[in-house]
Amino acid sequence: MNIRAQVSMVFHLDKCIGCHTCSIACKNLWTERRGTEYMWWNNVETKPGVGYPYLWEDQEKYRGGWKVHGGKLKLRMKGRAGTLANLFFNPYLPALDDYYEPWTYRYRDVSDAPEGDEQPVARPVSTLTGKPMEIGAGPNWDDDFGGSSLYAANDPGLKGLSEEERRQLFELESMAFFYLPRICNHCINPGCLAACPAGAIYKRGEDGIVLVSQEKCRAWRMCITGCPYKKTYYNWAAGKSEKCILCYPRQETGQAPACFHSCVGRIRYLGLLLYDADRIESAAAAEDSFLVHEQLSLLLDPFDREVIREAKAQGMHDATLECAQKSPVYRFVKEWKLALPLHPEYRTLPMLFYVPPLLPVLAHSEGGLHNEEEDFFSSLENTRIPVRYFASLLSAGEEEPVRQAYRKMTAVRLYKRAMTVGDVGKEKVKRALEEAGTNPEEIEAIYRLTALPSVEDRFVIPPFMREQAVEAVGDPLRHRNSVGTGFLRVPGIPEKKR
Ligand code: SF4
Ligand code: SF4
Repeated sequence: MNIRAQVSMVFHLDKCIGCHTCSIACKNLWTERRGTEYMWWNNVETKPGVGYPYLWEDQEKYRGGWKVHGGKLKLRMKGRAGTLANLFFNPYLPALDDYYEPWTYRYRDVSDAPEGDEQPVARPVSTLTGKPMEIGAGPNWDDDFGGSSLYAANDPGLKGLSEEERRQLFELESMAFFYLPRICNHCINPGCLAACPAGAIYKRGEDGIVLVSQEKCRAWRMCITGCPYKKTYYNWAAGKSEKCILCYPRQETGQAPACFHSCVGRIRYLGLLLYDADRIESAAAAEDSFLVHEQLSLLLDPFDREVIREAKAQGMHDATLECAQKSPVYRFVKEWKLALPLHPEYRTLPMLFYVPPLLPVLAHSEGGLHNEEEDFFSSLENTRIPVRYFASLLSAGEEEPVRQAYRKMTAVRLYKRAMTVGDVGKEKVKRALEEAGTNPEEIEAIYRLTALPSVEDRFVIPPFMREQAVEAVGDPLRHRNSVGTGFLRVPGIPEKKR
């Protein structure tokens, strides 16, 4: 067992109101510089929709992430040989049009306009060329179309849906959509890192945050192709790649990341997970139907005596263990199995997790009208957004993990409704609890952490021991496992353990 700590996040999608405050907070802090105009380290997409950059989930187009070939993991961009072959021409990079041409407005045309009969207007101008432009796309363009068939119909996740399911989804009066906030997943098996020919990308030993060394980056941009989530970006002015740093300078001073701190819906939870690094390759190479199960089984129980003993023997600090035990992320992901990884089939083992939204699922479509179904369990077959769609998003197409999460969320809802409103019968509640495999104690815990959490409940990270961590970053010894994933040495872990 090779125990590592990972700072991880859960997004509760039922609570996201799509206000984009998180994106703006991140933009103001990190990407208000020349060369970063088009970058949104945090963006919020409307789903179903094509996202940012355009069709980022289409790996036929972008070749991001890993695939299994002959039982071994290989980068979809054709491994390291492919990286070298594409060094001077990479056909899989998103172009500026796939992101969008960033613009601003000539505000002075409005504020300084002379008095006249015409209403003054502020024309958009490109922040790249300074010239007036016609706006044709933007990072949040989906919002304007609110999940409609005009735009959302191109979502690659809809491929497996039947004609009837599509009809239900896009019927104007029953149209449904939800918001998907996205940042770098700080993966355990990062495609960006493995694709970089300069070895500039590394995963911090003490918290698993994935960073790009600005010193070592040589602008090959292979990380952009290697990342299936398109969460590394090229700064054209600096000639370096950049990405979300999970606000590590804020975390090191005890502050939450800007996106977390500013989140209006309080949908975000930040906490520590422990995982077994010895099992990364086998988990990432599992069959699609087992991917979620394998990824969850990598995560270690921080209350398990053997895990505690081994973690201490490997030099893990008591404060880190204590945080892992109090982690809200551990509860949502491993204990309750309510939060799932985004596109696990990319095999990067993403370490951010999403609680699927219940609201667009609960009400189902019936002859063009949507109802809140009395008997929820039978209505899972006939929901406004098909369960299959969420399975393609959060569980590599395997429906059971999504159904299980929905069963539990519905049990919470019925149980609390029976208590507070009193219009749900005891038998129905009992059946819901049995079907979801849960009990009143767990229901209360889920309810409290979902509906009534304090910041201290949602944000649990250890004090960062930078004096040890600096030693780790300064350590030139890098371990590359057989899938080419580089890790910095975890402080206190003896060499022979790796
Ligand atoms: S999402 Fe994963 S692969 Fe993409 S930049 Fe982040 S760590 Fe790298
Ligand atoms: S700030 Fe929170 S609620 Fe608003 S869009 Fe971002 S994640 Fe959603």
